[in-house]
Amino acid sequence: MICSNCGSAIDDRAAVCVHCGAATPIGMAMNQGAQKPVGDPNEPANGGMIFLSALVPLFGLIYGAIESSNGKKRAGKGYIIGAICGMAFWLIISLLILAATILLPFLILFIEAS
Ligand SMILES: [Zn+2]
Repeated sequence: MICSNCGSAIDDRAAVCVHCGAATPIGMAMNQGAQKPVGDPNEPANGGMIFLSALVPLFGLIYGAIESSNGKKRAGKGYIIGAICGMAFWLIISLLILAATILLPFLILFIEAS
């Protein structure tokens, strides 16, 4: 057959052109068969999974990365954003607990002194 990209004569069974490397119709068909089914890049993120991502940020980051690599770009991004919001939330909660732990003895002393 003739390469559709560079016009050179190539083997009829070739998957790629030996002259320019372009995929032949056979090569394209093989590539399509080998490709795994990809998710819809515009599929919105699942609300429950965003909540779970915020609750367990590490899970959200991993799950978001997996979904993104599966082609669900929008959903994956949603889970990663959820995980980042979750991390910020947990950071504030831990700081509040830390502040309370440090301040509580002083508060007790203050109440006992008065
Ligand atoms: Zn070619």
